[in-house]
Amino acid sequence: MGLRMTKQNQLDKLKQECNSCQKCVLGSTRNNIVFSDGSAEAKILLIGEAPGADEDATGTPFVGRAGKLLTKLIEDCGFSRKDDFYICNTVKCRPPENRVPTNEEKALCEKYLLEQIKIVNPKVIVLCGATSAKSFLGDKIKISQIRGQWYKLFDGIDATVIFHPSYLLRNHSEAEGSPRWLTKQDLYKIKKISSR
Ligand code: SF4
Repeated sequence: MGLRMTKQNQLDKLKQECNSCQKCVLGSTRNNIVFSDGSAEAKILLIGEAPGADEDATGTPFVGRAGKLLTKLIEDCGFSRKDDFYICNTVKCRPPENRVPTNEEKALCEKYLLEQIKIVNPKVIVLCGATSAKSFLGDKIKISQIRGQWYKLFDGIDATVIFHPSYLLRNHSEAEGSPRWLTKQDLYKIKKISSR
């Protein structure tokens, strides 16, 4: 009987492959591949846009100012970022000047993302910000109109859209109805659905 690879083993193998990837132009300027953070066993898989400077320097997604805010919101809602989430991005290498990744770059990197989703097999996919949402729901979407709505992706995985924390950094209010308040409501709903 062959040895069964754990989810973590499978992800490690995929990351190794990704480490030498030069399929798109972003490969030539990156310092580090930013593959993922969190738990391979998580029920929630969160997909952000692309690595920024802090992420490129450390190889870990969502560690800069926006990432710290995301972590705080996650923890405020009673989650553990490390155990409850598997976190990745639409592309694994930083776009120069933090520009939005092109559709071509996203398409070339998609293989890794789809494989990550397949291996983790989450109960809930969280599309964090417009770039991530557009990858799955089409270029025409407007984040303000679809945030908080729920969709089915792949073979019926529940998926929803939340604001990107870099947008929340520019919106400090936590008053009822504010973007930060709405994001917390979204996270509470995500908690409820992921623990069903
Ligand atoms: S962004 Fe993705 S496709 Fe482009 S070089 Fe990096 S890993 Fe490869």
